Amino acid sequence: MKELRTQVAIVGAGPAGLLLGHLLERSGIESIILERRSREYVERRVRAGVIEHGIANLLDESGAGQRMREVGLVHHGVEVRFERRSHRIPLTELSGGKSITVYGQQEVVKDLVRLRLDAGAPIVFDAAVTALDGLSSGEPTVSVSAPEGDVLVRCDFVAGCDGSFGVSHHALPANVARRHERTFPTAWLGILAEAPPAAEELIYCRHENGFALYSMRSPTLSRLYLGVRPDERLEDWSDGRIWDELSTRLATDEGAVVNRGPILERGITAMRTVVIEPMRYGALFLAGDAAHIVPPTGAKGMNLALADVRVLAEALHESIMSHNDTLLDSYSDTCLERVWRAQEFSNYMTQMLHPSFDDEFENGVQTARLRQLVNSREAATVLARSYVDLNSL
Ligand SMILES: Cc1cc2nc3c(=O)[nH]c(=O)nc-3n(C[C@H](O)[C@H](O)[C@H](O)COP(=O)(O)OP(=O)(O)OC[C@H]3O[C@@H](n4cnc5c(N)ncnc54)[C@H](O)[C@@H]3O)c2cc1C
Repeated sequence: MKELRTQVAIVGAGPAGLLLGHLLERSGIESIILERRSREYVERRVRAGVIEHGIANLLDESGAGQRMREVGLVHHGVEVRFERRSHRIPLTELSGGKSITVYGQQEVVKDLVRLRLDAGAPIVFDAAVTALDGLSSGEPTVSVSAPEGDVLVRCDFVAGCDGSFGVSHHALPANVARRHERTFPTAWLGILAEAPPAAEELIYCRHENGFALYSMRSPTLSRLYLGVRPDERLEDWSDGRIWDELSTRLATDEGAVVNRGPILERGITAMRTVVIEPMRYGALFLAGDAAHIVPPTGAKGMNLALADVRVLAEALHESIMSHNDTLLDSYSDTCLERVWRAQEFSNYMTQMLHPSFDDEFENGVQTARLRQLVNSREAATVLARSYVDLNSL
């Protein structure tokens, strides 16, 4: 079997693994990124698209933000829509001058892959990690199944950045890992459409038929979502039905329109929330979706993943370059404090905006929360600060 040696083996080339590799490479630390999918696949995977203020700065400062600054859309507010009326939350005004940048996750991935290849640093696609061993023995190894044969990677540290369906979080022994999980009684049907956005800012909408989100990826691409039942089948949703339902839910008394166009991508994503504690076991450090999932209503998933590796890169640098393990030892606690704040915010947004189909008490509470949000500057400020920059607060 072929053997390789590196300082940090990174499992997964999503936003977390790629940014970690980039930050380590810039500080002179060797790593190998192992990704089970092809380059084409990861660069086309349409997912998140809202980048927080501090995370946009992180990408910038690391040299990965150039294209994001050129073509990303900077937003200073969001709309909250319910009872057929729209209310603007002025994010920048309420958060001390901060803003969000709308820039697709697959574009972040493309930028980071390009930087890594330009730097000549190793990234192996179509390479599935099958096992992590020796994590508490001081001699960690990563077993990889690659097209040209099996590979064993010997390393000092393993970064588990392989998302919720990866192998890394399973490497935490059962008597060490605590897993907290909830599934919501709703899912999101998301589409990417070739249609100019009909609104300049994102619209979060609560309608009696369900949730809707109007967002965009560029001046010609709209990204829209419908809250649907978790057992909904994609084949039951024709293009016409999707557009009609979006138009119904997003309608206002002023007659707001939804711009229609060819649907380029579609999918239904279950909505669940997971936290795995601790985020470290021996030489293994979990980051991003491998350690936690948030419901997407707060737009926190990618931001959390990138914020984790900001902490991890600095901790690894201190350990490898200065033989100081203080930051590595506090990595899990440092991240989990922020992760639980993001869970709280994402759950608040989810529970406020997704109507219940059988609980009128819950619906009454949701409407009261929405009214408070749009009538109280204090309530709107709390939302604005978390929405714009939770991971750097
Ligand atoms: C289907 C889906 C839709 C989403 N939509 C939205 C959205 O609309 N809005 C929003 O805000 N957030 C969304 N999210 C959340 C957001 O995209 C994630 O939080 C973000 O991708 C986390 O980045 P990551 O790098 O931690 O993990 P990922 O992006 O999941 O990256 C993990 C990588 O590891 C690779 N991998 C897995 N197992 C192995 C293995 N054994 N060996 C090697 N490589 C492996 C995977 O192929 C993947 O490339 C979505 C998530 C999912 C799963």
